[in-house]
Amino acid sequence: MVTPLLPYGRQDIDDDDVAAVVAQLRSDWLTQGPTVPAFEAALCEATGAKHAIAVSSGTAALHLACLAAGVRAGDTGVTSTITFVASANAIRYAGGAPSLCDVDPETGLVDLASLDAVVSGLAAAGRAPRVVTSVDLCGSVAPLARVREIAARVGAKVIEDAAHSLGASYDDAGVTRRAGDGAYTDMAILSFHPVKHVTTCEGGAILTNDAGAAEELRDLRSHGITKDPARLGPVDGPWSYEQQRLGFHYRITDVQCALGLSQLKKLPRFVARRRALAARYDAALSSAPLAAAFAPLRVPAGVTSSYHLYVVRVRPRDGEGLVEVAARRLALYGALRERGILPQVHYIPVHRQPDFVACGLSQGDFRGADAYYAGCLSLPMFPAMQDGDVDRVVDALAAFVASGR
Ligand SMILES: *Cc1c(COP(=O)(O)O)cnc(C)c1O
Repeated sequence: MVTPLLPYGRQDIDDDDVAAVVAQLRSDWLTQGPTVPAFEAALCEATGAKHAIAVSSGTAALHLACLAAGVRAGDTGVTSTITFVASANAIRYAGGAPSLCDVDPETGLVDLASLDAVVSGLAAAGRAPRVVTSVDLCGSVAPLARVREIAARVGAKVIEDAAHSLGASYDDAGVTRRAGDGAYTDMAILSFHPVKHVTTCEGGAILTNDAGAAEELRDLRSHGITKDPARLGPVDGPWSYEQQRLGFHYRITDVQCALGLSQLKKLPRFVARRRALAARYDAALSSAPLAAAFAPLRVPAGVTSSYHLYVVRVRPRDGEGLVEVAARRLALYGALRERGILPQVHYIPVHRQPDFVACGLSQGDFRGADAYYAGCLSLPMFPAMQDGDVDRVVDALAAFVASGR
């Protein structure tokens, strides 16, 4: 028997999803029909946000969110260096220059002292950021109340990059808050790429509690065009529409939203399964010999992660530096692949990307990010995984440790 490959993540599509897509294909609407707003309403329900604007990708959502946050040519914005490049690129699409801040190597989340220093430094140079894009890495919600305080001091808006954290929550002085609910942020973005919590193949959304921003985002999603009679000047006829500013074609289709709606119904089950798998990994990694070799990424106190990813960090041995840790992580990556287990690294720090270096966007002190990056490895984590699949990965980790490498 061939051992099935175990990827780090994969979609979970069942017969209900297929039936929902087929029904949509047989209906009158392939795009811009009733299923887009139905999906948006379900996203509001799932997150607690007042408005959801579904778009063609998470990256498109970030771009429009930066525009709605007021980022224009010559402005600055801040995000952390451990993220998918899209979080930083979106600031550039809007004409701004991203500055990167460091992360806490134990959690991968924003290092608040670094964020504070970067924001204050920009403000002191007369270039106060318009936006801080805070990243909920791996499914842990970042310390949003603290991020908000730092951003508010210089009048910056806060975007929560919640691409990893749909379904996550955190305790806020006894109140349970959900990722994307907007309690401390102006907007949040989601991605529906197949490895994320729910999929529309490609797709994304912006969440906000601000009705004005929601209207602006809807216009920007479709060329900056409005058909709202109340917002038109003198009209030629009932067909009238106006392009009132330059927008984009970032629309999502009804077919994609039919899949998304069907997927969202399963979000609680998907997230519960991810948490159960994480608990199984945690238990295995908490005892010798694995505990001495690896440390699971820490989830901050009070946060209930939705585990988009399950990251382990390779621990340094006595006297080892990052070079040795990175070499052992590379060996581990190879050893897992030999057993049909396909781990991944999330992420190569943005400050190391050649394009960011070439554009002068790589300056800063990133000791936390470099330490995180040297040892991090994302192990398989997806809702259809069986307990036995976790055990198979754990056995492979144990064999690696036993090999003495
Ligand atoms: C996936 C992802 C995005 C972008 O999403 P796409 O839908 O692929 O454009 C943005 N930020 C983070 C942190 C992501 O993981």
